[in-house]
Amino acid sequence: MAAILLDVDGVLHVSGEPIPGAAAAVNRLREVGHRLRFVTNDTTHSRAALAEELRAMGVQLDDEELQTTPRAAAKALAGRRVLALTMPAIVEDLEGVELVGDSPEVVLIGGADETPETNSVFSYMNIARAFAEIDAGAELYSLHKNPWWQTSRGPLLDSGAFVAGLEYAAGVEATVLGKPSPAYFLAALEAVDADPELTWMVGDDIEADIRGAQAHGMKTALVRTGKFRPDAVERSRVMPDAILSSVADLPEWLERRP
Ligand SMILES: [Mg+2]
Repeated sequence: MAAILLDVDGVLHVSGEPIPGAAAAVNRLREVGHRLRFVTNDTTHSRAALAEELRAMGVQLDDEELQTTPRAAAKALAGRRVLALTMPAIVEDLEGVELVGDSPEVVLIGGADETPETNSVFSYMNIARAFAEIDAGAELYSLHKNPWWQTSRGPLLDSGAFVAGLEYAAGVEATVLGKPSPAYFLAALEAVDADPELTWMVGDDIEADIRGAQAHGMKTALVRTGKFRPDAVERSRVMPDAILSSVADLPEWLERRP
C-alpha cells in the first residue's frame, strides 16, 4: 500500500463546500490500507477547527494527521520575537512563539481569507510596518506564497502577492514554510514514514503541490477541481503522473493500476 499526501483546499472542499465524493474517496483510501496525511497550506483555521470542519464533511481523520503551516511556523520560530500579520484564528497554533508589536526578529506573513479581517491584517499601515522591520534587520517568513486561491466566488488575491512585494521592496527573500518548501514535504514523508517513490501527492496546484512533490521523487496526481486551470498545466513544464477529474476518482484509479 502507498502513502498518500492529500492537499485540502481545492481537493476536499472549495470555500468550505465539500467536493462531491471527496469524503467517501478519502475513507475508501484509508479502508484499503493506504497511509494518509493531509498536507495543507490553509492559513485561516486553527488545526483543530479545520480538522473539525473536515470531519463535518464526512472525512475521517485525527487532528494529528493534518499538517498545517502555522504549526510548522511554531516549530521553526519557537522562542523568537515575531511580528505576525496572520489571521487571528491561527494564533492558538503559534504556541511558543513570542508575538510582539515592535522590534521583532522575524516578520511572519500569513494567508488571506474571505472575511473583512483581511483588510485590517494586510492594511497599508501593517505592510509598511513589516517593510520597516525587515529593513531594520528582521527576517521575513511566510506561511505560504500562494499568489491566489480559488473560492466559491472565483479566484481571490492571496498574500503571496504581499510577500513578493516585501521581497521586492526590502531586497530580501522570504523563507516559505508551507508547500512547496522542501522542509514541509519532508515533514509529511517523515510523519507517514514513507519512501518518496512509494508516495503520492494529490493536489489542485501544479506548482505548490505537483512540482514541489516531484522535486522529492514522489508520484503526483493533479485533480481538476479547486484552482485547476488547463492553461496553467499547458504552460508549466511539470507533468503529473495522473490528471483526474476529482479526488473522488482516485481510489478506483489506484485500484485499476497495474
Ligand atoms: Mg489546494
